[in-house]
Amino acid sequence: MEKLKPLIDNFGRQITYLRISVTDRCNLRCVYCMPESGVSLLNHDEVISYEDILRLVNILSNHGVNKIRITGGEPLVRKGLTGLIENIGRIRGIEDISMTTNGILLEKYASELYNAGLKRINISLDSLKEERFYKITRTGSLKDVLAGIKLAKKTGFNPIKINTVLIRGINDDEIIDFVNFAKEFELNLRFIEYMPIGGNIAEAVLSKETEEKIMSEFDDFRPIESKPADNNAGNPAEILPSGKEGVYGGVSRSFGFKDGKAVIGFISPLSEHFCGDCNRLRLTASGNLRLCLFYDNEYNIKNILRQNDDEAVFKKIEDIIKLKRFKHNFNEKAKKRESVLWANDFMNGIGG
Ligand code: SAM
Ligand code: SF4
Repeated sequence: MEKLKPLIDNFGRQITYLRISVTDRCNLRCVYCMPESGVSLLNHDEVISYEDILRLVNILSNHGVNKIRITGGEPLVRKGLTGLIENIGRIRGIEDISMTTNGILLEKYASELYNAGLKRINISLDSLKEERFYKITRTGSLKDVLAGIKLAKKTGFNPIKINTVLIRGINDDEIIDFVNFAKEFELNLRFIEYMPIGGNIAEAVLSKETEEKIMSEFDDFRPIESKPADNNAGNPAEILPSGKEGVYGGVSRSFGFKDGKAVIGFISPLSEHFCGDCNRLRLTASGNLRLCLFYDNEYNIKNILRQNDDEAVFKKIEDIIKLKRFKHNFNEKAKKRESVLWANDFMNGIGG
């Protein structure tokens, strides 16, 4: 097939990665993601259809997009998701599909997802204490997530990444427990700096502090190499000699232990910025393209997708990509303890 024009922004960055928020709905209400009362949700007919998602992925894959992440809201609350994954997997040029989930429904869907072609998964988990987990999620049960993780492991998902958002005074006393948990179940754990999105509930714990805490507890905690822009957090066997700086793989910096039993990553939107090699584009649940998590501007793509004119869609995307800015303004806002998004713009609709 003829090789079509890649999508390149004004700073020479090629877009190869699409994050799709398939729903703004969620079965949890995490304190850092949504207000307790929930948020105003899209009507079902306003949510982008699977058909439109597939059309968009098809077009983008012809222009160099090869990596897809399914997110939400909670992706597993949307009916027919495994069918979408299966269909995305059939699209020529798509080399990598992954999903971010809160894990509550994972036990139910793990094998269906795996059989549909999903082989990698990220599971969000912010406490290993049942009561605290309930407090943070305002509704969920830790047991469900743990059962989901165990089954995902048994089913063969690899890697399984655990995303842990650290918030001072809420769960920062569990750092070592989380590391031990990752070692015990041989998981890839990533500590994420809390971002003041849609409000500012508490202080973040910066990655450096977390890294030092783990370092003081484990003598063999070392940076490991990961493939550039891969964000796969590397292979635990590739432990570098002591003292060498960790290598950034995509947006995460990775460490491991001598026994190779876990990978610990740090995602540091506050203390580092990784905009220089940003290769991503976001599709929101409402069918808008979003160029950066930290800029509110969104561009409707759903309407033009329905006109059945792939060339016009690509032309529109190309114009939108030219509006991508070099760097986000998040750190400046965060320093002033301002929210980075508008009041109605919560993570659930954008997908993180
Ligand atoms: N519901 C799914 C889940 O929780 O994994 C997917 C959507 S959620 C918006 C995607 C990721 O964003 C999760 O790992 C969540 O922890 C993270 N997230 C949400 N709000 C955040 C915040 N204010 N700061 C840092 N990470 C956040
Ligand atoms: Fe929590 Fe994810 Fe739901 Fe947000 S979308 S409330 S992070 S489970």
